[in-house]
Amino acid sequence: MRLKTLPSEFQKALPILSKIKESGYEAYFVGGSVRDAILERPIHDVDIATSAYPEEIKKIFSRTVDVGIEHGTILVLEEDEEYEITTFRTEEAYVDYRRPSQVHFVRSLKEDLKRRDFTVNAFALNHTSEVIDLFGGLKDLEEKTLRAVGDAKERFNEDALRIMRGLRFMASLGFSIEEKTLAAMIDNTFLLERISVERIFIELDKLLMAPFWQKGLAQLVSSNVYQFLPELKNSKKQLEVMLNDLPFHFHFESSEQAWAYLLISLNTKTIKPFLKQWKTSNDFQKTVENLVTVYQIRLEREISRQDVYRFGKEIIKQVESLREAKGLSFNYDKIVEIDRQLTIHNKREILVNGSQLMALYQLEPGPKLGKLLSEIESQMVAGHLDNTEDAILSFVERRLAGE
Ligand code: ATP
Ligand code: MG
Repeated sequence: MRLKTLPSEFQKALPILSKIKESGYEAYFVGGSVRDAILERPIHDVDIATSAYPEEIKKIFSRTVDVGIEHGTILVLEEDEEYEITTFRTEEAYVDYRRPSQVHFVRSLKEDLKRRDFTVNAFALNHTSEVIDLFGGLKDLEEKTLRAVGDAKERFNEDALRIMRGLRFMASLGFSIEEKTLAAMIDNTFLLERISVERIFIELDKLLMAPFWQKGLAQLVSSNVYQFLPELKNSKKQLEVMLNDLPFHFHFESSEQAWAYLLISLNTKTIKPFLKQWKTSNDFQKTVENLVTVYQIRLEREISRQDVYRFGKEIIKQVESLREAKGLSFNYDKIVEIDRQLTIHNKREILVNGSQLMALYQLEPGPKLGKLLSEIESQMVAGHLDNTEDAILSFVERRLAGE
C-alpha cells in the first residue's frame, strides 16, 4: 500500500532518509506516526529507524546529539527540526521486567519491527510512501483491532507495560483488543507491579485524556488491571461510578482535571499521599488537590470572590465543566465576572509592601505586621479596599489608631 498524500512532517524529513540511503544504508519512518498517517490523523514525533549504526549516523550528519546512544538513538538537527534516528535493534531477556537488559543492533528491518508491541505500531514507511506491513497491521487497522506482534503471551510477559499501552491505544484509537492478545494481557497483569510507576502513570494519564477513555477504562476494570495499580486496589465499584457518571462524549480538558475526577470518584480524602504513590510532581499534586477542593465547595455553595482569588478562575472553570457534564448547575460567566471585579489576583500586586509600612510607621517585623498585611489583602479581595497608596495608607492609619 502506498500513502496517497504524505503528511508534511514526513515530507520535510525526506531529505534525512535520502542522506542515509545515499550513504548505503536503509532508513524508514516507523512507529506511531506511520499508523496515524495511514489513519489520516495528525501526526507528532517523526521517528526514523535505520540499518546504520549510531557511529555511522554521526558520520553522515554534521549536527547530532547522543540522546540515547546505548539504545541506538541519535538526535539529528537539520534545518530547524530535530529527528530521532534509531538503529534497527532487537531486545532480549527482560531480566527485571522494567527495561530490556540488552539491545542488539541489527541490520534487518524485520527484526526491528518484530520487537514492537502491536501490529498497528509495527509499520515502516519508505521514501516512496510505501507502507511496509509485515504483520498484518493494515488489516488490523481496517478492523480496528489491537493485536500483539508475535506470540502474545511472550510479548506481555517480557514487558508488562504493554498491557497499559494496549489499554491506552484502545482509548486513543477506539479499537478493540483481539481475543488472544486480551487473554495474554489478563494473564500477565500481576507483572505490572514490577513496572516503574512513572511509566504506568504516563500510560494511564494518556488513557484518561484520550477520546475513548471510557472504553479503555472499562477494559482496565474488567481485566482486573486496576488491582495491580497504585492506590486502585479494590476500587472496582468507584471506577464503575466514574465510568457511568459522565456522558460518552465528554473529554477531560487537562490531566489534572482527569485525575481530580478519578479522586472524586474514589472518594479519596488524602489527595497528596495518593498522588505521591503515583510519583507525580508537587505542582501536579497541588493543582489536583485544588480541583477536588473546589469541587467539594461547589457541592455546598456558590463560588465566592475569595474562592476565585485563592484558586484562580482556570481551576474553577474546570470544576464547572465537570459539573456541566454531570448535569449539575454551572455558571462560567459568574466566575469570569468575579475575576474581572477582583482588585488584585495576587498579593504581590498590592501597591504598598511590608518594608514600606515598616519605614513609614516604625513597625517591627513580626506577627503584628503580618496581620496588618493579611488584613489589607483580605479587605482588597472582599472589594472593600482600593489598591492605591492613599487608600492603603489611610486604612493602615485607621487600624493603628484604633489600637
Ligand atoms: P503516540 O502516538 O502516543 O506517540 P506511539 O505508537 O508512537 O504512540 P511511542 O510510545 O511513541 O508510541 O513509541 C513509539 C513506537 O515504539 C511504538 O509505535 C512501538 O512500535 C514501539 N514501542 C514503544 N514502546 C514499546 C514497548 N513497550 N514494547 C514494544 N514496542 C514499543
Ligand atoms: Mg510516538
